[in-house]
Amino acid sequence: MAKALVVGGSLGGLFAANLLHRAGWDVLVYERAGEALSGRGAGLVSHPALFTALAAAGVNVDPREPYSASDLGVFVADRRVFASDGSTIARHEYPQVLASWPRLYEVLRAVLPQRCYRHAANCVRVDTGVANATAYFADGSAQNADLIVAADGLRSTIRAQLAPAARPVYAGYVAWRGLVDEASLTPETWTALGNTFGFCLPEGEQILGYPVRVGGHRAYNFVWYRPADERALRAMLTDADGRVHADGIAPPLTRLALTNAMRDAAERLLSPAFAEVVARTDQPFFQPISDLISERLVFGRTVLLGDAAFVARPHVGMGVTKAACDAMALTEALRGTPDDVTAGLADYQRIRVEAGRAVVDRGRQLGAYMQAQVASVLEQEHADTFRTPQQVLTQTAVPP
Ligand SMILES: Cc1cc2nc3c(=O)[nH]c(=O)nc-3n(C[C@H](O)[C@H](O)[C@H](O)COP(=O)(O)OP(=O)(O)OC[C@H]3O[C@@H](n4cnc5c(N)ncnc54)[C@H](O)[C@@H]3O)c2cc1C
Repeated sequence: MAKALVVGGSLGGLFAANLLHRAGWDVLVYERAGEALSGRGAGLVSHPALFTALAAAGVNVDPREPYSASDLGVFVADRRVFASDGSTIARHEYPQVLASWPRLYEVLRAVLPQRCYRHAANCVRVDTGVANATAYFADGSAQNADLIVAADGLRSTIRAQLAPAARPVYAGYVAWRGLVDEASLTPETWTALGNTFGFCLPEGEQILGYPVRVGGHRAYNFVWYRPADERALRAMLTDADGRVHADGIAPPLTRLALTNAMRDAAERLLSPAFAEVVARTDQPFFQPISDLISERLVFGRTVLLGDAAFVARPHVGMGVTKAACDAMALTEALRGTPDDVTAGLADYQRIRVEAGRAVVDRGRQLGAYMQAQVASVLEQEHADTFRTPQQVLTQTAVPP
């Protein structure tokens, strides 16, 4: 039986592992984190392709309800833009399931045999050739396989080794994020926001939010995009002791003054309901927004997948769906050429480089108006086109 090692046991790695396992591969997932990832993560937007991939991975997705498939999320029927006074200024019917990351992690873990998943396994490098590949781990151990799937995320160790030129490029704005329980919000706020995919659009900024189900109860998930040039970002990534956390600062290390300034801005700029959501979120945190493009996904018997391969800005809402589609394409390509893995991998690369580029381009278009600096005429055109409430409602998080 052909053997595949999957490095990274988040959603991309779990899709790949389940699909390869079901296609007859002997699969082992190696995840750096020492314990299950289920306690982390928040909301994410789903697309029909996500449910197709879940079903292919063995998750019981109810075929009678393609949009509210099983209990993976909260169904909303429309999207709305709210003015700063709370009135609705635009509305668009768009049925969608707002899923939760922990729930998807849970169901994908549940369908993968337990023996196929290992924690506390930190891959430090790979050797990859035309016939097989070896992964080396921080504890000194090594594993050979016919295929290594690098599903180790935006800061991929394997991509850094095999394609050092492919690096995330900062987009010029950050996303403040947070999750607040329904019970912490006033009924007025839940009535305004709790049954729709909501937006508010201060000049050059965008906040969006939607209800999610976390651990059996409902919560509200928000993402607030705010411009920050490179200098401002560096200051934001600096903790109270003056240390700079260039790859992202942990929420508890974010300086209180920064969080307080963001909360003050929420009071001034956002609709009353969104301002309340921000005010009542215990620990808002921020992430720099970046683009990542890979020219190559295949290096001998090692392939890049999910966020290790391409990262598009979140406006496309494609992070998880793209990782799922990568895993589907990889499995299909290998199935199509059972006696020639190399040819299958070449197919995978051809299909997914094109798809990855398209989704990154789309994210750049949708996000241009939030960049601290707009660098080209084309970016200015995109900024002008995609800032209107109607464009935001109809173009955000729809399949490309
Ligand atoms: C805990 C967690 C919570 C998340 N929550 C959300 C969310 O709420 N909403 C959302 O839209 N997206 C979320 N994401 C991101 C989302 O999962 C990705 O954008 C998308 O699903 C693609 O996933 P990925 O598996 O390719 O990469 P990632 O999800 O980034 O996963 C990479 C995995 O690889 C592991 N890893 C990294 N380096 C190594 C190594 N050297 N050896 C072994 N393992 C390694 C990491 O620990 C991680 O589990 C979350 C990611 C994580 C890890």
